[in-house]
Amino acid sequence: MPEPPPLDEPVAEAWFDGDLAPEDFRALGYRVIDAIANHLRDVPDLPVFAGRTPEEVARTFDEPLPKHGQEPARILDDWDEKVLPNATHNTSPRYFGYVMGSGTPMGILAEALAASVNMNAGGWKPAPSATEVERRTLAWLAELIGFDPACGGVLVSGGTMANVTALHTALRNAAPYDTTPRGLQDEARTGRFLVYASDHEGHVSLVRAVDMLNLGREALRRVPSRGDFTMDVGALRGMIEEDRARGDLPFCVVAQVGSVNVGAIDPLDEIADVCREYGLWLHGDGACGAVGAMLPEKRLLYAGLDRADSVSLDPHKWLYVPYECGCVLFRDPVTQRRAFTMEASYLQGILPDGYHGHDFYELGPQMSRGFRALKVWMTLKHYGAEGYRALLRQNVRCAEHLDALVRADPDFEPLHAPVLNLYCFRFVPARLRDDVDAHSEYLDRLNQAITDAIRASGLAFVMTSQLRGRTVLRLSICSHRTRLEDIERVFDDLRRLGHDIDRETGTAAAAAPVVVV
Ligand SMILES: *Cc1c(COP(=O)(O)O)cnc(C)c1O
Repeated sequence: MPEPPPLDEPVAEAWFDGDLAPEDFRALGYRVIDAIANHLRDVPDLPVFAGRTPEEVARTFDEPLPKHGQEPARILDDWDEKVLPNATHNTSPRYFGYVMGSGTPMGILAEALAASVNMNAGGWKPAPSATEVERRTLAWLAELIGFDPACGGVLVSGGTMANVTALHTALRNAAPYDTTPRGLQDEARTGRFLVYASDHEGHVSLVRAVDMLNLGREALRRVPSRGDFTMDVGALRGMIEEDRARGDLPFCVVAQVGSVNVGAIDPLDEIADVCREYGLWLHGDGACGAVGAMLPEKRLLYAGLDRADSVSLDPHKWLYVPYECGCVLFRDPVTQRRAFTMEASYLQGILPDGYHGHDFYELGPQMSRGFRALKVWMTLKHYGAEGYRALLRQNVRCAEHLDALVRADPDFEPLHAPVLNLYCFRFVPARLRDDVDAHSEYLDRLNQAITDAIRASGLAFVMTSQLRGRTVLRLSICSHRTRLEDIERVFDDLRRLGHDIDRETGTAAAAAPVVVV
């Protein structure tokens, strides 16, 4: 046995210090705050899309693993020189892609503060204040959309995880046997578990959800929709009857509460009646549109939302908070606990004590969880419900203004009435108006080319989508910074590009509609 060293001998080894001296941290922090403030000041004039190719961006970051540490100031230079110039600016007032929030100022500060204490909001003990901020935030979100604030809920990474969380809970609570011990492998299962959503606007994340639950993608049954893109409830009823007669096990209907292309809201009250009649779970997928329920002038469209068993909504979409933040609410908190409860000696102290609080790890898919609630809580306090109402209203107003511009212009075709902040339309040169169907392939390519061109120009980020098989221009007006002037500027540019591209490519196409350019 070697002799242990004598205790009074000093330890000579160097101890690596992973922290910064407080004054150094402060100086770097001020530089970061300046960079953020400058970005928010400058972003309206920056190209929305950097336009560099995937290869160029990859090359920018092609460097070896740093063997030795670098100066923090040098690392912040990388932010200025490499990261920011290759960012797509969804903080711009003219970012209209996907459904993306614009990032709120209090949300930015909240992210830094949350990181500074680094609480893990998985359990009450490691995160007493974060837990209560989240609980309060969930109750406020529920109240905002007219859902019972005594509901359960949890913040997750986004709408997809919210839908997965909801569908797992639905299956646990609405299956004809207890799926806890044996899940899908139980002999008690007598048929296929089925979920219903509308055919056109049912969101693709529901495919992900049934897939992750291992129900198979065909478990998502597509219900025909009506002319306004909302679910045909008569057809829903017919499908449920038919599937049950075959011995299958319908367990959930997903209603779109603001759909991803046109902002359609399914008839919630009627669907809730069907769900009650057949004992099915009603989930409202309100990732992009549920918060519209806070507008009194839109409330009627949301009638029946309070009857849903669960609702998902994304604060990182139409509440504008920085990524990531999704949310799912459960009308009956017991259903949520039933789906996620679990025990392990290392999660709770073995013996009950006075500090046994609300543990979110037992109420959703994650164990370790960040302090997501802070950015929502702080932004809600900054704007208040009325401030949020004003911002949402401004976005709706922009969609309505765009619709008016489209309807007044002979070279554009309106395709639906604006409901919320999502709007689709087409550029159709007036000369082709009378025979749109014969030129449909050309028009698909033309509209795609217009969005590619406006994105490449840096003026705006606009994408296409498909509406009943046609390629259309789609704007998601989901930024608290967008003003009517932005809409007009972008509309004028879309028109100019449409004419330019049509002039270059369209003459031949008009003569022979199927020519591929
Ligand atoms: C965006 C969206 C989702 C998915 O949300 P993520 O946050 O992107 O995961 C689900 N449903 C609808 C209706 C959406 O708009």
